Amino acid sequence: MKNFNYFTPKSLSEVQDVLARYPEGGVLMAGGTDLLVQMKSKAIAPECLVDLKGLGLSYIRHTGGGLAIGGTTTLSEIESSTLIKEKCPVLAATCSEMASYSIRHLATIGGNLCNAAPSADTAPPLMVLGSRVRIIGLEGERIVPVEEMFTGPGETVLKRGEILTEIQIPDLPPHSGAVYLKYKRNEGMDLALVGVAISMVLNSSRTTCREIQIALGAVAPTPIRASVAEEVLRGNQLKEDLFEETAIKAREAAQPLTDVRCSAAYRTALGEKLTLDALWQVRKLAIDKKEA
Ligand SMILES: Cc1cc2nc3c(=O)[nH]c(=O)nc-3n(C[C@H](O)[C@H](O)[C@H](O)COP(=O)(O)OP(=O)(O)OC[C@H]3O[C@@H](n4cnc5c(N)ncnc54)[C@H](O)[C@@H]3O)c2cc1C
Repeated sequence: MKNFNYFTPKSLSEVQDVLARYPEGGVLMAGGTDLLVQMKSKAIAPECLVDLKGLGLSYIRHTGGGLAIGGTTTLSEIESSTLIKEKCPVLAATCSEMASYSIRHLATIGGNLCNAAPSADTAPPLMVLGSRVRIIGLEGERIVPVEEMFTGPGETVLKRGEILTEIQIPDLPPHSGAVYLKYKRNEGMDLALVGVAISMVLNSSRTTCREIQIALGAVAPTPIRASVAEEVLRGNQLKEDLFEETAIKAREAAQPLTDVRCSAAYRTALGEKLTLDALWQVRKLAIDKKEA
């Protein structure tokens, strides 16, 4: 690995000062669990790493209308947070299934989104929950829906020097639920072959799907919404044949690649199967949900 300088700024303006000194070779780092792998394989060779963990961006708060999670909050802090388990159990469950116990103590939610792997596990659940990210850079602050963040494998809308400071997740309405199902190669650590997240809101008699959002990971260059599939159920009764049609439409949204993990055809078939399983699980969650 090439030598590099390492900085631990204590404020956002200090980050910008360091980056200004390295106009080509300065790279932001949170947990480093993606970055250091890329550096070791020589995919990247930064002149300097700017560590974001001293910026005070590790927090989990409930703001009234929803959760606010700081960009450098670790996956382990999220999976063990009582607040997240209460307000957004799908995110706690998702984080608990990622990587290994030790990696989750380093890896951050902001890093998972900014690394923008098509298989990034936190992306599909955050998308179906209508989450947004706060981004701060030299030109000021902007809020971007998670769904609009990804522009290609490893690419996002973030410009050079911009920092993802916060993830904002609105509270789920009454009679609703959300699930994320991930299929991977074995019981140990592995990235998703396919991941499917679904959020569903039922009417007050819990017989009709008032709103549904479906997102798939690892089946396209970026995590995607399956909007055509959502239309099959939106406003309709919770019937088995509609669930099957929804899963078929979700499969049709996929444009997967064949890679070392599995074939494109296998990913396509998995997308349908996981969507169907997720529909039945989210239906049960929404029907059984106890309202405060
Ligand atoms: C063995 C192993 C298993 C893994 N298993 C999984 C898995 O099951 N599921 C999964 O989705 N991922 C997995 N990963 C990938 C990785 O752990 C996650 O993507 C992790 O969340 C990345 O977070 P990080 O803080 O380590 O990011 P870093 O490596 O620090 O950064 C990743 C990228 O994001 C940028 N960045 C980081 N934070 C910010 C920010 N706040 N603002 C702007 N840019 C930022 C960095 O510049 C870099 O380009 C695994 C990795 C390993 C090594």
